[in-house]
Amino acid sequence: MLGSMSAVKIRLFVDHPLGEGQTVPLSRDQAHYLFGVMRLSVGGQVLLFNGRHGEWLATVVEAGKRAGALSCTSQTRLLQMPPDLWLLFAPIKKARTDFIVEKATEMGAARILPVQTDFTNSERIRRDRLQAHAIEAAEQCGGTYIPDVAELTRLSKLLDDWPHDRHLLFCDEALVGESFAPLADLPKGPWAILIGPEGGFSDAERARLHAMPQARAISLGPRILRADTAAVAALTLWQSTLGDWI
Ligand code: SAM
Repeated sequence: MLGSMSAVKIRLFVDHPLGEGQTVPLSRDQAHYLFGVMRLSVGGQVLLFNGRHGEWLATVVEAGKRAGALSCTSQTRLLQMPPDLWLLFAPIKKARTDFIVEKATEMGAARILPVQTDFTNSERIRRDRLQAHAIEAAEQCGGTYIPDVAELTRLSKLLDDWPHDRHLLFCDEALVGESFAPLADLPKGPWAILIGPEGGFSDAERARLHAMPQARAISLGPRILRADTAAVAALTLWQSTLGDWI
């Protein structure tokens, strides 16, 4: 039976196996956070997750300034996998890119793939920083799964190797104002959502995407949305018709 977690407030990601009786060593930063900032001491309780083994209630068994250890007592949640949905987006300004990664994690994307398109503003991303944002988002939203954030890849390269069975929801600003086609009759299965950069898609990209049998182009209404708004809107539509919100 899953244990109770009602009184435990602190939820921490650890890159360590979790299981009954498992001892989990803490990094210097984690020890500082738990014992310096949150003032926990031996006997205190924390919820742990690692993205693979669900969520566990753990008790502090060693508490030092720079180190410490926890021991797992009982499982409080099973691992809940999101649907097989990828989010492809062209990175924009730093804070808005962070927002997209955070929201995609909260809303249940399984993978996040920053893509370089013909008009992408940003040539580089810090993948490790974006992955840390995904971890933080999972920590605060109660998620037990952490989406992998991929390295920045050219969209054309991804499309060259696109899996034949993965559908692609292509959010095409050129369709702005066209009547919105409900997604309910689209097939279930692996999907990806594609959001373009501030400058939109080039004609060549648009032609290629429209020709792909896996792609379904959609309008997101009568106004042009910023890329971060478009990502949240598309994730909402997909999750509420084909995903795990239903
Ligand atoms: N510069 C482009 C223009 O003026 O047409 C707008 C690009 S928009 C800021 C960024 C991305 O959000 C687009 O590439 C698209 O993927 C998505 N998007 C925004 N509004 C949309 C809409 N009404 N329908 C479909 N996609 C939209």
